[in-house]
Amino acid sequence: MKEMLYLDYNATAPLLPAVINAMTDTFKVYGNPSSIHNLGRQARALMECVRNKIANVLETEPAQIVFTSGATEANNMALNGFLQKNAKIIMSAIEHESMNQTIPNKIMLPVLKNGQIDLDQLGKILAEERSHHQAPLVVSIMLANNETGVIQPLKKAVEIAKHYNAWIHCDCAQALGKIPFSFKDLEVDSLAISAHKIGGPKGVGALILNENLKLPSLIIGGGQERGRRAGTENILGIVGFGTAIEEIFRQPWGQIRKLRDTLEKRLKDQFSEIPIYGQDSPRLPNTTYIGMPGVSSQTQLMAFDLENIALSSGTACSSGKVKPSHVLKAMGIQDKAAGETLRISLGWTTTQQDIERLIDVWCRIYRRQTNKIPHVA
Ligand code: PLP
Repeated sequence: MKEMLYLDYNATAPLLPAVINAMTDTFKVYGNPSSIHNLGRQARALMECVRNKIANVLETEPAQIVFTSGATEANNMALNGFLQKNAKIIMSAIEHESMNQTIPNKIMLPVLKNGQIDLDQLGKILAEERSHHQAPLVVSIMLANNETGVIQPLKKAVEIAKHYNAWIHCDCAQALGKIPFSFKDLEVDSLAISAHKIGGPKGVGALILNENLKLPSLIIGGGQERGRRAGTENILGIVGFGTAIEEIFRQPWGQIRKLRDTLEKRLKDQFSEIPIYGQDSPRLPNTTYIGMPGVSSQTQLMAFDLENIALSSGTACSSGKVKPSHVLKAMGIQDKAAGETLRISLGWTTTQQDIERLIDVWCRIYRRQTNKIPHVA
């Protein structure tokens, strides 16, 4: 069997070596960070050091950071908190399931064909809502989409939302480390991040809150995290998160972008008919979402798996079955074409040879399944 080729970084990333070292060094720190004694203080010091690091990187205050079990919990906490303030939620149609499934009665903000939110519609929806009531409004828009990698025009959206006095929540789980941004810069009210998308461990993330925004805790118990998230903090995970957030900016994102662009160009040169969703929009440097006309995502996934190449359909439910992508649907893509798409997400271990291998296998699968002949370049 050939060596595993991992191209599913948007699902999760391998632990960075520095993260493994930092976590290994922390295994023996077993104190409870809420304990007053020396061991507890030792654990607390490690945790506060990471809080400071994250605050530094994302230009916020340490006290505004709430550690959570990941971006799912951070998104849930934010939206549930806003709901408890009787807010009406306006959410982009391409949000992650951790947002989408949380709110039953939300107003969907449509996206354009290029995968970016419709800013005109945002203005119209907010104006319409404001003309009916003065209840709090929340606009929820992710910074970068996990399937297409398309970066959203957040600054403009924030401007519009602020004009109508709405709060803004931003899911930055995919954007963190891959593109520059900060809490201060984005001017949002709450922001979710996750460690395992950036080479840190699974099960840890954070919600950053505007200093004037008080949201109720989603998890009730002790008074940890200034009463905003009960439960003994995951010190080991938090230490890994802290190292990952330092290391992620040192990864060769320019090189990763070149590899992604080479992959797209080489496939398009051979088969001009293949769709690449969101290609004309600003995108994360590592992500491409490519259709293989006439070949279902499920068939492709199995064929790549036989070659020991790990890719993703972008959306898979827990049964492992591929379901139609709500993101592509929102972009106006028909179900058939949407069901023929795979997401390829590169990372710091990806090499030119990996891309050559992927292109070779991609073309072989396409030819075998459809009898396609490549164009002569
Ligand atoms: N938001 C986005 C955009 C994601 O891609 C993911 C992970 O797939 C999440 C949220 C959930 O993150 P976590 O796995 O940390 O709960």
